[in-house]
Amino acid sequence: MSASAGIPFLDLVTPHLELEQEFTAVFKEALDTASFIGGPAVENFEREFARFCNVGFCAGVSSGTAALHYALVAAGVRPGDSVITVPNTFIATAEAITQAGGVPEFVDIDEGTYNLDPALLLGYLEQECHSGRHGGCRISRRTGRPVTAVVPVHLYGQMTDMDAVLEIAEAHNLIVVEDACQAHGAEYFSRRANAWKKAGSIGKAAAFSFYPGKNLGACGEGGAVTTDDAEIARKVKMIRDHGQAKKYYHDIEGDNGRLDAIQAGILRIKLRYLTKWNDQRRQCVAVYSEVLAPLASHVILPGEPSWSRGVYHLYVVRHQGRQGLQVHLASKGIGTGIHYPIPLHLQKAYRHLSYREKDFPISEGVAAEILSLPMYPQLRPQQQKQIAITISEFIQSKAVPAAVTMSAGV
Ligand SMILES: *Cc1c(COP(=O)(O)O)cnc(C)c1O
Repeated sequence: MSASAGIPFLDLVTPHLELEQEFTAVFKEALDTASFIGGPAVENFEREFARFCNVGFCAGVSSGTAALHYALVAAGVRPGDSVITVPNTFIATAEAITQAGGVPEFVDIDEGTYNLDPALLLGYLEQECHSGRHGGCRISRRTGRPVTAVVPVHLYGQMTDMDAVLEIAEAHNLIVVEDACQAHGAEYFSRRANAWKKAGSIGKAAAFSFYPGKNLGACGEGGAVTTDDAEIARKVKMIRDHGQAKKYYHDIEGDNGRLDAIQAGILRIKLRYLTKWNDQRRQCVAVYSEVLAPLASHVILPGEPSWSRGVYHLYVVRHQGRQGLQVHLASKGIGTGIHYPIPLHLQKAYRHLSYREKDFPISEGVAAEILSLPMYPQLRPQQQKQIAITISEFIQSKAVPAAVTMSAGV
């Protein structure tokens, strides 16, 4: 792939080339044993992914959305509960809250990490909720419903400040379910535990997605719930299989949300490369930091608090002229993305929640300026240099000469 052939936003062909034979063996094994749903491939993957995340249990499911939905139900969210999350996330986070019977409520983000701001979470609970008649959870003034859970999203592969979230959650009886769908392998330094912890091992339960473009991606759909709670794991395994623990004995109504054996077999192979691929992504971050440094007064680069070791599912920069910059990059064959252009509270699908513009100024401001640059383990420094040069060209083309600025000044 030469620079003149362009630089794609994502490359899902190259990483699979050297794995093709192993993938074929997975398919042959499934055909030979007619083991398509469940079976040893799924159980082995669950054991290996639990070990990777440093948790006791993992339940493979059909998608990240299903993982969040089932984790919320299994962890104790009840129909009619208010569940807090952030407005700047993929819609699946809020969809899963609704699917679990809850009502999404939003709290704004921290501008430095693009993740849930614990101070705003506390402010919301103290000022926009009142205490329940029976003590326990706070009651949302907005919905009149008990606030029972919070879903911090480790967006772009960067950790939310989980110590602060856990402390607030304990004080207000909130269930914490991590949306780790972009954060396979990310780490958080917990001051309270005085140890680094893996994404997915901190809340009561966590959800992962194995959508093909994620850091650990299947060749199709897939997801997983991780938890240290045996009872939650047991419930998720029932929900994914029509509420049955024994065939045709349905204790509850569940769903069809299993992980299939072929995807599990592929995920087992790719899991062996995940740490190396995440390291390569972090090397790409180091190169970006270097080549984009001269543009620092025009382009805000991702920050990483000392307590976060991100895995950069996405590499997101901010620029005031985002639209024009994206068009310019595209004209030079450089692919980019916007994650995400419209915060959830302003989406048509959530009009019934009655939020308005300016309700979440940080999320709204960020959404107007963010741009995701190419980021994948196989991205080469030469390509990153090319991207930096192209951004620099755009900024220079927009620069107003100093004399003109002065004469046009107020
Ligand atoms: C991908 C993603 C999901 C949903 O995962 P699917 O496997 O696509 O259902 C949820 N939350 C976030 C933050 C995601 O990026």
